[in-house]
Amino acid sequence: MALGIPVLCYHAHIIGSNDYAGNAHIALAEDLQLIQACGRRIVPLRWIVDWLQGRREDADMINAVGISFDDGTLLDFQPVEHPQYGTLPGLLPILQQFARQHQYEQPSVHASCFVIASPLARMQADQHLLYGRNWLASDWWPDATASGLMSIENHSWDHNMAVATEACATPRNSFRGVDDLPAARRQIEPASELIEELSGRRPELFAYPYGDVNDYLADCYLPEHGATAGLRAAFTTAGKHIDAHSDRWKLPRYVHGLHWRQAEQLQNILRQS
Ligand SMILES: [Zn+2]
Repeated sequence: MALGIPVLCYHAHIIGSNDYAGNAHIALAEDLQLIQACGRRIVPLRWIVDWLQGRREDADMINAVGISFDDGTLLDFQPVEHPQYGTLPGLLPILQQFARQHQYEQPSVHASCFVIASPLARMQADQHLLYGRNWLASDWWPDATASGLMSIENHSWDHNMAVATEACATPRNSFRGVDDLPAARRQIEPASELIEELSGRRPELFAYPYGDVNDYLADCYLPEHGATAGLRAAFTTAGKHIDAHSDRWKLPRYVHGLHWRQAEQLQNILRQS
């Protein structure tokens, strides 16, 4: 039987409603129990990449599922007081509780957290898109790494956000325009360097901002220069399983709130393959 591996993506800071469909904290807590009940096993994303590179056996990947968090806000790491939605538990504490509860059945619980590297872009996003509460600080990255349950990975220099004054590709609020060597270098290489400096570990994975993959990045830049930046794979939001033939520079993920809004829909995703 061919292996199919779903990778799930959550945004802790984008809360549309205080229920499963709109709150990643509520959804993740429920989804972890569902993953366990479906007989699936959470593995680090780097295991999936090892497997695609022929460095890990099929046997390690049976019933595997990957977990990732995007944008790297404090809500990925610890409880916070949300001005609109009250106390939110934070995604890492939810993972930690699950890992303790199922330490024998789920020995490899892990999430990859894709962060924006630029301190200026993080400050601008915090001021203009969040609540000015310093949720995009980087001081928690070393502790997240040291937890053993989370790795800090590359989500570009400035996400090419409209609010980021350093962003230069057009259109903004999209990553499609990062399609030549200078722009790709600018977005990816200093990001890996700074994330290594601030987290204590070199990122191995990249996630395309907005899920926007383009042919230049996936077919030229990353295959040729990704390894120089220490990268081994890149993730999109294509809403499919990863299989043995998946392109390492275009690995699909399912996004909470987009590809599933109810536990039953996730159950259907987990049952494919
Ligand atoms: Zn993002």
